[in-house]
Amino acid sequence: MNLYGSRHVFRALAWGMVAMGILMGAIFPVAAWQLGVAADLALSPTFVGTTLAAGLIVGGLNFALASRIVRPRLRRLSGRMRKVRSAMEQATYTGDWSECDPAVCRLEEQAEDELGDVANSYNALLQALHSAHRVEERIQTFNNTLSSQLDLGDLSDQALTLLIEHAEADGGAIILEKQGEWTLPAAKGLIDPEAILKSPALQAAHQRASLRRFELPGEVKVDAVLSHFTPSDVLLMPITHHGLLLGWVVLAAAQTFGERTLRLLPLMIQGLGLALNNALLHDDLQRVAALDPLTGLYNRRFGMKRLDEELARIQRSQSPLSLIIVDLDHFKRLNDTYGHLAGDKVLIRGASVIRDMLRKGDVVMRYGGEEFIAILPGSDIGDGREVAERIRFAIGQSSVDVAGHTLKVTASLGVACSSPDRLLSAEDLIRLADARLYASKAGGRDRVVAEGAGEAIAG
Ligand code: GH3
Ligand code: MG
Ligand code: MG
Repeated sequence: MNLYGSRHVFRALAWGMVAMGILMGAIFPVAAWQLGVAADLALSPTFVGTTLAAGLIVGGLNFALASRIVRPRLRRLSGRMRKVRSAMEQATYTGDWSECDPAVCRLEEQAEDELGDVANSYNALLQALHSAHRVEERIQTFNNTLSSQLDLGDLSDQALTLLIEHAEADGGAIILEKQGEWTLPAAKGLIDPEAILKSPALQAAHQRASLRRFELPGEVKVDAVLSHFTPSDVLLMPITHHGLLLGWVVLAAAQTFGERTLRLLPLMIQGLGLALNNALLHDDLQRVAALDPLTGLYNRRFGMKRLDEELARIQRSQSPLSLIIVDLDHFKRLNDTYGHLAGDKVLIRGASVIRDMLRKGDVVMRYGGEEFIAILPGSDIGDGREVAERIRFAIGQSSVDVAGHTLKVTASLGVACSSPDRLLSAEDLIRLADARLYASKAGGRDRVVAEGAGEAIAG
């Protein structure tokens, strides 16, 4: 039985009011008689009939009045609730939640009675549902935006922009941990974000991967339009995936972060963990596909792609680029004498010597069996020759110990340069360097040739 159904309540109310009226009508003549009204008048059928009728009418009027005041308010409330319920059912499938907005569906109930309370509770419930939906929508949009990104840099950048926007922060950074090293794939609005990587607070937080809040940390400074300021609230939140720590999100703001932001951020960062994990896996696959398994240098396919990119870049920046081909001397003989495995060790050593001689922006690939190519953006032929000399010398100085033998090799090198006044294609650059390598072999090996040979190629 539904005790709260309005029909039942109003029927009970009607019966109650009428019964009350009849009771009053029945008691009144007796009370009048007791108070001194003559019995033949007070207890006469006409007087009793009249008081009973009057009681009945007052009971009926009371009921009519109550239901006239209360019923429409209840009807309005239940009608509005029904409307919102069906709008929500629709919105679940259509995605259009405008009909469920509290601004549209709230009940304007001013009275401070129980019905006013019901209306207020209904409004609060509507607001809570709306907020829950907004949170879900935000997280879904955030996750959808990130899941389409596989490039680590772009992903971090977009995630940071969205997190800063949602948290109403003034700046922030994303820190990733890879093989024990901290990197900073994205930073916005901070002065010297690299300083965070050295922060003792980060090291301390790393021991316990949980949300941390700093008070005025010296490491974080926000780059405001007119001045720099030290934020009053800095959050450091772990990014995890399946319990594995991938990195940290740093958010800095002039104001203290609100409770709602603090509750929403971990949900967003959970999605970021999944997206970052995918991007890291993709990055690993790309890297594996780009590397030569023996030496760990770029393989020829990827190295040539990098050469094209670097040539396009120097054309834009109007700067030179040098290319060095390194070929180990008499390598076949070394293989034949000491075996292929010993040859491999010499190759690995040679690759690491070459890499050590280069600067950060330089590119080095294993071009073929015992041939390597180094690409030096921004270097003219003089710089190229100098680096080539250093490589030649370092290879000559290095040695590998195999089964009681100390193996030493020398290398011959050819250098070519593409400069703004003599631009060369990747193909011509390699052909020119190769011609000079051939010249250094012909000249007796263990030497560098950076001019003369192959001039016809350069035009
Ligand atoms: P040159 O001084 O004229 O360059 O003589 P070279 O013997 O170095 O030249 P050549 O090109 O005839 O020989 C290269 C040798 O490198 C042949 C091949 O057996 C060896 N080689 C190629 N790739 C590998 C490898 O991955 N590991 C080993 N151990 N040897 C390799
Ligand atoms: Mg060779
Ligand atoms: Mg060789």
